[in-house]
Amino acid sequence: MRIYVCVKQVPDTSGKVAVNANGTLDRASMATITNPDDLAAVEAALKLKDETGAQVTVVSMGPPPAEGMLRECIAMGADDAVLISGREFGGSDTFATSQIIAGGLSNLGVGPEDIIFCGRQAIDGDTAQVGPQIAEKLNIPQVTYAAEIHKNGNTLTVKRLLEDGYMTVEVSTPCLITCVKELNQPRYMTVKGILECYKKPFTVLDYEALKDEPLIDPTTIGLKGSPTNIFRSFTPPQKGAGKMLQGSNEEMVKELAESLAKKHVI
Ligand SMILES: Cc1cc2nc3c(=O)[nH]c(=O)nc-3n(C[C@H](O)[C@H](O)[C@H](O)COP(=O)(O)OP(=O)(O)OC[C@H]3O[C@@H](n4cnc5c(N)ncnc54)[C@H](O)[C@@H]3O)c2cc1C
Repeated sequence: MRIYVCVKQVPDTSGKVAVNANGTLDRASMATITNPDDLAAVEAALKLKDETGAQVTVVSMGPPPAEGMLRECIAMGADDAVLISGREFGGSDTFATSQIIAGGLSNLGVGPEDIIFCGRQAIDGDTAQVGPQIAEKLNIPQVTYAAEIHKNGNTLTVKRLLEDGYMTVEVSTPCLITCVKELNQPRYMTVKGILECYKKPFTVLDYEALKDEPLIDPTTIGLKGSPTNIFRSFTPPQKGAGKMLQGSNEEMVKELAESLAKKHVI
């Protein structure tokens, strides 16, 4: 059994967010981290590896510096890593991104017992579309928002986190599962893992390596293969200064209620 984990390197949006003069994100000046939901996905895979001895492969599509993040996943316990990287893949929207990752996974081989884990969403793009689209393109079932996962034979029981409760779903392999942060507490890298992470197998799949895959076609990848294009991006205007209410409690409550009613909030 092989478990693939799709991991994305993202700008650390909790730190300094820099915007270029043209309104685009200045990614170069921002620190990068592993997308938080993806760390939960790595931990879910490593837990299954501890239980079943499965092989865990971390996969990322991105520029060459994503190698550092993938090595960190190996230091946590993953067996090997695959970086899908090439100029032809740049500028992809979620349709093209999922097409390329599905093409890469297909090339690596998805067997009947295999599982693909993704995060629920990336904190930069924030679409939560890539995981479900990979599943569609590989023609396998998907379960999203996993907050608990148990494996029994060739089926997985997954507790999905909904807005107002949970839903438990049983799914057979091969399947794709998207994980939420609440699923677990990702383990730290081990010292042994750090020492060995440069000795473990690391594969780069470029356009040349993937061009014969049926999913990889110049019309379905990169900027040209993207049905959507970012037309404009901008920083939202700052909210106005807060207003302090004066007077007795009754007067303040009355004024607050009136101003909220005026704005149609209540
Ligand atoms: C130069 C550039 C141009 C772009 N142009 C466009 C554009 O024209 N139109 C547009 O809509 N978007 C564009 N994007 C944004 C791009 O669509 C998203 O970054 C990408 O598709 C992933 O979507 P997301 O971040 O919303 O991921 P989500 O769907 O929120 O991610 C869900 C999960 O999918 C997996 N995943 C997502 N991306 C990757 C990855 N790269 N490698 C491995 N796993 C991954 C992870 O497990 C992640 O947790 C552009 C991005 C760049 C860098």
